[in-house]
Amino acid sequence: ITTPHRPPLRVVLAKPRGFCAGVERAIEIVEMALAQYGPPVYVRHQIVHNQRVVSRLEAEGAVFVGEVDDIPVGAVAVFSAHGVARVVERNAAARSLRTIDATCPLVAKTHQEGQRYARQGFEVVLIGHRGHPEVVGTLGRIPGVVHLITSVADVAAMHPSDPSRLAYVTQTTLSVDDTRDIILALKARFPAIVGPDTRDICYATQNRQNAVRALAEVTDVVLVLGAANSSNSNRLREVADGAGVPAYLIEDATALDPAWLAGASRIGVTAGASAPEELVDELLDRLRLLFDTEIETLPGIEESVRFRLPEPFARGPERGR
Ligand code: SF4
Repeated sequence: ITTPHRPPLRVVLAKPRGFCAGVERAIEIVEMALAQYGPPVYVRHQIVHNQRVVSRLEAEGAVFVGEVDDIPVGAVAVFSAHGVARVVERNAAARSLRTIDATCPLVAKTHQEGQRYARQGFEVVLIGHRGHPEVVGTLGRIPGVVHLITSVADVAAMHPSDPSRLAYVTQTTLSVDDTRDIILALKARFPAIVGPDTRDICYATQNRQNAVRALAEVTDVVLVLGAANSSNSNRLREVADGAGVPAYLIEDATALDPAWLAGASRIGVTAGASAPEELVDELLDRLRLLFDTEIETLPGIEESVRFRLPEPFARGPERGR
């Protein structure tokens, strides 16, 4: 049914949006494992936080499990892009699994930073969301005392044993603005603290948050395609909302409530780093069915980041940022 609408509804797409290099690499790793070893290939946790991606890989022969204990001894297993704790690697070795690690290189970089600080005798502060798989993995790779904090209020509640020997690292998919506030609070309370500022927040998260902020400036409503458990997608919705525009996180086009768009003349669309572009295409199809639409893309950064694949699938060098 076509709803009569005063001048055409302008649909503005963010750029960049959708898949990042870490997600593309993780999906490619599962596909290459299936091609090389044949199904089943076991994947610990959702390879990336998107059910569409998971369902497609399941159809190709991937089997998603919660823990390595659920994987038959000696099978091929892939670790997700979020990274894993050391104990997971040990459990996999104990089951003689043939493991392929799809941890995003930018997550691995924060692991290495945290480990370096711990070696230098610092207690490490991890800024991140409790229970998120990346945070669980990072906590499980940094030896010694790690303080997990999520908010400015958490800074006041910290009790490090030596405030002059503190360092921090962050989850890769946080809000750039919130993280900056937390780091400022840490520096105010612990002036000697060292860390990478907001540079642990990955290029894809930063670029998508900048793009959705620009989108919110020129639209009346913002729709974010992404899974409810996707950290970076939730942050995109929050950034748009924080810019004063009603914003909705939707899993796919069927979750759109046309009532959200009542009175809007320009709506913005973006997608989290784990959301495939087909979800954007399907949303645009639904909007075309509902309204007379004009579609445009807001100018933005052209990303060219590409990560090297792990052995045994290694290809050319990494590039871009
Ligand atoms: Fe890597 Fe960033 Fe993508 Fe996460 S969102 S997989 S850290 S590039």
